[in-house]
Amino acid sequence: MSTLRTIDELGDVRGKRVLVRSDLNVPLADGVIGDDGRIRASVPTINELADQGARVIVCAHLGRPTVFFERASGTTQPETEFSLQPVAARLGELLGRDVRFATDTVGESAQATVDGLADGEVALLENLRFNAGETSKDDAERGAFADALAGLAELYVGDGFGAVHRKHASVYDVPQRLPHAAGGLVAAEVGVLKQLTENPARPYAVVLGGAKVSDKLGVIANLLGKVDRLLIGGGMAYTFLKAQGHEVGNSLLQEDQLDQVRGFIEEAAKRDVELVLPLDVLAATEFAADAPHEVVDATAIPADREGLDIGPRTRELFAGRLADARTVFWNGPMGVFEFDAFAGGTRAVAEALIASDAFTVVGGGDSAAAVRKLGLAEDGFSHISTGGGASLEYLEGKTLPGLAVLED
Ligand code: ADP
Ligand code: MG
Repeated sequence: MSTLRTIDELGDVRGKRVLVRSDLNVPLADGVIGDDGRIRASVPTINELADQGARVIVCAHLGRPTVFFERASGTTQPETEFSLQPVAARLGELLGRDVRFATDTVGESAQATVDGLADGEVALLENLRFNAGETSKDDAERGAFADALAGLAELYVGDGFGAVHRKHASVYDVPQRLPHAAGGLVAAEVGVLKQLTENPARPYAVVLGGAKVSDKLGVIANLLGKVDRLLIGGGMAYTFLKAQGHEVGNSLLQEDQLDQVRGFIEEAAKRDVELVLPLDVLAATEFAADAPHEVVDATAIPADREGLDIGPRTRELFAGRLADARTVFWNGPMGVFEFDAFAGGTRAVAEALIASDAFTVVGGGDSAAAVRKLGLAEDGFSHISTGGGASLEYLEGKTLPGLAVLED
């Protein structure tokens, strides 16, 4: 397998304009940043380049600003709620440097901002997705935007791990137009994923949760050939329970995935993979933070209740199946951790990983956010990934476009 090109291979970057594709896709509400983990993870590569005297042009996306509205003037304007401006301020604080903000992606503001950069200075371009070329499926439209982006710089560094599974202009097309390298974050993330896929220490346990089974089908299918134990919690567990013939009340259920899930249950048995499902759940009267709830057996969920977290016996069971594992990958919260009353299952799994001596990896935006929201020490895990979709696709065995182009 080919390896990623490193920043060192770019040679002397002093005085060079370096376009850095970062992942700054953080939760924003009314201009206030929620979890800033991804910004913090982007800091080392940007600072490394700036310390070496590069003129650093950071580019990134935020959310999915697909709807554009017509201004009274008749011009089309992207939704301001998706502006990266608040992120520029936070990035500057974390870098300990000024960050100049360009109010467009490849327009006049971007060009003027880049032209004004001195050695060691940093700029951030406006949300790449304000330009339809960024995500276009049309090679020519994407290519035209990539040409313009590449025209701002002399070198490219791909460091936005959370976006490397996307065939987007800034991720896939620009590096084909400039001398390129992978940043430190991408290199670190890929190193961890290799450790999970090439010869993992055993027992190897994977804990999956989150809302939808359909998001994780590919990874389950691929992991069934690699892991020793597969623990399923969160909203997706109910489709497994239903597939086993149990009623799940009003719990999250993906009827259309039942056949597929039955197939997984058979496959796990055939391959001697231990499939661990919830024994009990917190069954609530409604989907609400203060919903009345009680512990019920996973096989006896009342018709008018919905399971919003794994119960105490399940927490103990899961912790037990993780205690002697040597490799653990965890993706997806065990319950609706956003509500304090239903965060206990997620906390129990996180604490089991922290207590373990295994190589422990957390993947998934919500899982990482849960760890921080619960106030758990991030250094209690071997690695917390900044990319949910990207790490899952890697574990599915797929080729990630944004990584392939950074190999030599
Ligand atoms: P990640 O981002 O870590 O990959 P997902 O996006 O797959 O995780 O899922 C996260 C979401 O799953 C959270 O918003 C959480 O509230 C939700 N969730 C977990 N368990 C349940 C449940 N039992 N019912 C409904 N939603 C759930
Ligand atoms: Mg998520």
